[in-house]
Amino acid sequence: MKNPEFDVVVIGGGPAGAVAAGLLAKGGVRVALAEQKRFPRQKVCGEFMSAAARVALADMGLVSAFDSVAGPAMRRVWVCPPYSAVVEGNFCADAAGEYPRAIARDTLDDMLLTRAKQFGTAIFQPCHVVRVIGDAKQGFRIERREGIPLSSRIVVLAHGLAGRGDMADGPSDAVAHRGYLCFKAHLSPADLPDDVTAIGGMRGVYAGLIRTSEATMSYTARDGQPPRYNFACVASRSVMQAVGGPEGVLRQVKLVNTHFGRMLACSKPLSPFYATGPLTPGVRQTYRDGRFFVGNAAGEVHALVGEGMTLAMLSGRLLAQTILAHGGCSQPDEAGHAYSHLWHREFAHRYMAGNIFSRVLMNPLVSAMAAGALDAFPELMQWCMRFSGKPAA
Ligand SMILES: Cc1cc2nc3c(=O)[nH]c(=O)nc-3n(C[C@H](O)[C@H](O)[C@H](O)COP(=O)(O)OP(=O)(O)OC[C@H]3O[C@@H](n4cnc5c(N)ncnc54)[C@H](O)[C@@H]3O)c2cc1C
Repeated sequence: MKNPEFDVVVIGGGPAGAVAAGLLAKGGVRVALAEQKRFPRQKVCGEFMSAAARVALADMGLVSAFDSVAGPAMRRVWVCPPYSAVVEGNFCADAAGEYPRAIARDTLDDMLLTRAKQFGTAIFQPCHVVRVIGDAKQGFRIERREGIPLSSRIVVLAHGLAGRGDMADGPSDAVAHRGYLCFKAHLSPADLPDDVTAIGGMRGVYAGLIRTSEATMSYTARDGQPPRYNFACVASRSVMQAVGGPEGVLRQVKLVNTHFGRMLACSKPLSPFYATGPLTPGVRQTYRDGRFFVGNAAGEVHALVGEGMTLAMLSGRLLAQTILAHGGCSQPDEAGHAYSHLWHREFAHRYMAGNIFSRVLMNPLVSAMAAGALDAFPELMQWCMRFSGKPAA
């Protein structure tokens, strides 16, 4: 492809794609980003954001914007088993004294994409990419449903979950947990202290409750409305079918798990229920012949670990830094091999540890015993935090 229109086309405007595009554009690269959905849009997510993501927010110039809309600092976690007492653990601050916080996905994703545009990224939206043709030598032709194809020297695949035809092929150890579906809703009110994330559920259902940002762009907040809470859930397909979908799962969790029943006794949904699935946690690929993979397209960490957004933003940042350090897009293979090496060094162990941890925890026998073990051995909680990628004492 002679004289491509752009140096880089990024496919997908989630946290990984927006950070990669924004930081490349900030570094002087000609970048376009194609996102299939109109923003703001909601996304199934626990909305728990580790403090580790703040370095990417800082590079995007968004720390104070984030702080002004995000929910309160999370200092404690309550593990809420269905038939026994709550076990409390503490989140540790990172080296800068920052704690995790929650933010509504429509707000975060819109904020990142808007900033990427301000840095000079050409945004095509809604723009559904159907095929990517080319290689590192020839450059790329990016075919989309709407309008004429885009052309670029390299492509960044930031399209999230796997299984999207030509764009997601290649080696992968990702395992589809086809038996599990996910959903979320914003609820209010909840009897949950501001600094606590509650996790728990019932057999076949794993849920998280967190106070999230007040501002959200998908639906209008009413004056004087109480704080909003994000309820996110991973539920087995059989439970989901038996109880009639997400609303039924929420009702059942409130009935079976007395802690969630108490916390959500008066709650009403503020938003529709958003559902997705199945989960496909695992490490995929990072570079192949001019195609760079970031965020969930490179590796998906299990939803239970609550680190996916952070790893998505950090991988977008790492990619931009690596391409810029290799003089832009003139040496794709060199930049690609460097990015792969750094990605595996920085992140691979976090994906693998998080996924082993979640798989063990989702075993019904283990999860039944886990609360008792955490109660008897408080240091186990810190070990679990460290293993799932969070700062620990
Ligand atoms: C139930 C659940 C709970 C979770 N809880 C948490 C949590 O508490 N904390 C946390 O950090 N993470 C959590 N995660 C994980 C987190 O949501 C993901 O890891 C994160 O969204 C990955 O970001 P990404 O940018 O790689 O992909 P995405 O956010 O999926 O963005 C990909 C974008 O690409 C677009 N796209 C896809 N295909 C195309 C195409 N062909 N053309 C154009 N655009 C396209 C999509 O529309 C989308 O906007 C959770 C996930 C689930 C399922």
